[in-house]
Amino acid sequence: MNEPQLRSQMLRIAHLIYDRGLLVAMDGNLSALLPSGHVLCTRASCHKGFLTDEDLIVVDRSGRMLRGTGRPTSELKMHLACYDERPDIRAVVHAHPPISVAFTIANVSMARCVLPEVVLTLGTIPTVDYETTGTLALADKIRPFIRDHDAILMDRHGAVCLGPSLLQAFCNLETMEHTAKITKTARDLGGVKELPPDEAVKLRSLGLKRYGGPPSAVAKADDPGADLPDSCQSCSGCANPTPSGIAPKMPLRMARVVAAPPRTVAGALAGDVEDAVLAAVLEALGR
Ligand SMILES: [Zn+2]
Repeated sequence: MNEPQLRSQMLRIAHLIYDRGLLVAMDGNLSALLPSGHVLCTRASCHKGFLTDEDLIVVDRSGRMLRGTGRPTSELKMHLACYDERPDIRAVVHAHPPISVAFTIANVSMARCVLPEVVLTLGTIPTVDYETTGTLALADKIRPFIRDHDAILMDRHGAVCLGPSLLQAFCNLETMEHTAKITKTARDLGGVKELPPDEAVKLRSLGLKRYGGPPSAVAKADDPGADLPDSCQSCSGCANPTPSGIAPKMPLRMARVVAAPPRTVAGALAGDVEDAVLAAVLEALGR
């Protein structure tokens, strides 16, 4: 794509990201590599739902302003780290998808094999430990994850999704949040059944060959567990999970589904009502 085409696609996708509730207010940022090798990105403090061409700026690969008005996005270091680590990608989308972020706050891993189409296209979605937004430390922290994944979650913060195009990076973001919604709904309904490990590996191997992915992952397509974490091999599914469930070994966050606490909000309210009724009865009885 040439620059005018990329600029118009970036506006369209930014509007879609806002319309789909994947960020609000001045959240998030997008970037794409121009044919020149420079980076087209959103400027700091602009609303993605109302993004216009004037909100787009061009920087070089070290982050120096070349064209446009305003400052580059505060998360530019993170975008540049993505391009440094993954010469195969041409676009990065960062947003704050609410249910996915809630998973990180609740300490529930999305590095699990639950939905076949997600295993095919993304494999597992790791969560990177918390780091202050906009810092070089955060950019450095995500580097090892970017090498092996097209979609990652940052604890208490948001998603970083990469792709060979803006459209593909956006698709990865949508898929992540859709997975979070389905997984949350399944948890609300009673539980999450993971794919049997052999099926997960079969799907992942097929997906890497059919749809590609990070070169480091594609290179493992024919390995015994493909690029899925070792713990997949010993997991016997959600009905009888290992202590870590299907989740990569450290330093990825490992969390498993735990039973709801016995005293829920509804239960507590019911208890309060019971206490009030009992007190009223005792009062009526003069005790
Ligand atoms: Zn952010």
